[in-house]
Amino acid sequence: MTTGKQYVDSVFEKVKAQNGHEAEFLQAVEEVFNSLIPVFDKYPKYIEENILERMVEPERIVSFRVPWVDDKGNVQVNRGFRVQFSSAIGPYKGGLRFHPSVNQSIIKFLGFEQIFKNSLTGQPIGGGKGGSNFDPKGKSDNEIMRFCQSFMTELSKHIGADTDVPAGDIGVGGREIGYLYGQYKRLRNEYTGVLTGKGLTYGGSLARTEATGYGAVYFAEQMLKARGENFEGKIALVSGSGNVAIYATEKLHALGAKVVAVSDSSGYVYDEDGIDVELLKDIKEVKRARIVEYANARPNAKFIPVGEGSIWDNKADLAFPCATQNEINEEQAKTLVANGVIAVSEGANMPSTLEAIDVFLNAGVSFGPAKAANAGGVAVSALEMAQNSQRTPWSFEEVDAKLYDIMKGIYENSAAAAKEFGQEGNLVLGANVAGFLKVAEAMSAQGVV
Ligand code: NDP
Repeated sequence: MTTGKQYVDSVFEKVKAQNGHEAEFLQAVEEVFNSLIPVFDKYPKYIEENILERMVEPERIVSFRVPWVDDKGNVQVNRGFRVQFSSAIGPYKGGLRFHPSVNQSIIKFLGFEQIFKNSLTGQPIGGGKGGSNFDPKGKSDNEIMRFCQSFMTELSKHIGADTDVPAGDIGVGGREIGYLYGQYKRLRNEYTGVLTGKGLTYGGSLARTEATGYGAVYFAEQMLKARGENFEGKIALVSGSGNVAIYATEKLHALGAKVVAVSDSSGYVYDEDGIDVELLKDIKEVKRARIVEYANARPNAKFIPVGEGSIWDNKADLAFPCATQNEINEEQAKTLVANGVIAVSEGANMPSTLEAIDVFLNAGVSFGPAKAANAGGVAVSALEMAQNSQRTPWSFEEVDAKLYDIMKGIYENSAAAAKEFGQEGNLVLGANVAGFLKVAEAMSAQGVV
């Protein structure tokens, strides 16, 4: 009989052979596969049904040309993607990322993770992801609009409120979702919840903007509670200064912690008085300026440019990586541990390398993996879909309360799965297993499709 390890290894060999050049995708797959070995030992029927090989192959990938005209009248061309990974438990759901680093490997890693994350939320949403190598930085509002309209002209052929519902991610916030939604409506002549993260005047949900950051903090709260701790007086580092980082910082302050550093791709700021969230919002959300402006506006804050140090060099009790993939490597994880970090909650997707995760787990740090800790964003997106279908908006408090319960549920289910499979406290394994089981059962019930 094939063992769980033999099965997982053989599928991973095939995945490597077919996707050898997709480093980020292979990294995300390896992390999940390592967790699933005991699951296949316990449920051999999933080996017989070859669930894993089916799950790791996207149902569909669309790659397309996005031509647009810049303000000088020059024709520009970018590449767009939508990876529709799994519709086993609901319509494809996952964000759009606009960043120059975007390629098929990055979108596939994000889409693959999204399958398990969405399953963990307990809501009926499948996994997908998309984006473009378009760089919104330095572009005028008109250029952003023309790009979004061109992008949606093709994407609209592949999505729909019951088919595939994209949202934001890096480089795609309220402004971009507005332009994308306007173009979809114009092309299709229908007013549905086809995108989430919409503005409040046209179908958006209260608390969606805050959801990912707040959710990562609610998840950390559960991890701290399990070790008899809370946020009171704790020092935190939050990387990034975008949507996730800003609202993680806001909620950490509300719960009694002090965030002393935030960053962007140019460097980080250290503010011993605690990050002024309103100032940060003004610089990042309103002015769309660089993080150095924060240090210029605060007498006690220092700006440390990239290359002269890392945000993870600083002493803290808590770390919230909320910028991008692979932003904590093994050395940085060791530094955080040596400096006394007790909990890491991943607001970004795959911010810790596989080696960094091992450092945290081996040191007994409470580690909240992205697919559990940052699931609050997609969870509230699914609540936005529910409100759009009902044509009834819910209050901020109602949505926030549901978000809190969902994050608590994800923690409890992940912790229970880790315990059931003999690795108590390992939330990486727990989240992967809990997320996998529901999707596997749905695939099994639906036959070979
Ligand atoms: P934003 O575009 O709002 O902010 C991203 C932040 O991260 C910016 O400060 C940006 O700096 C920094 N950053 C991005 N890329 C890099 C890089 N290569 N190196 C250094 N810094 C970088 O994105 P979000 O806050 O929405 O997303 C952040 C992370 O959270 C991503 O991993 C995303 O996938 C994840 N996430 C987001 C969700 C959401 O609801 N928005 C939901 C779940 C996960 P700069 O401006 O200089 O580029």
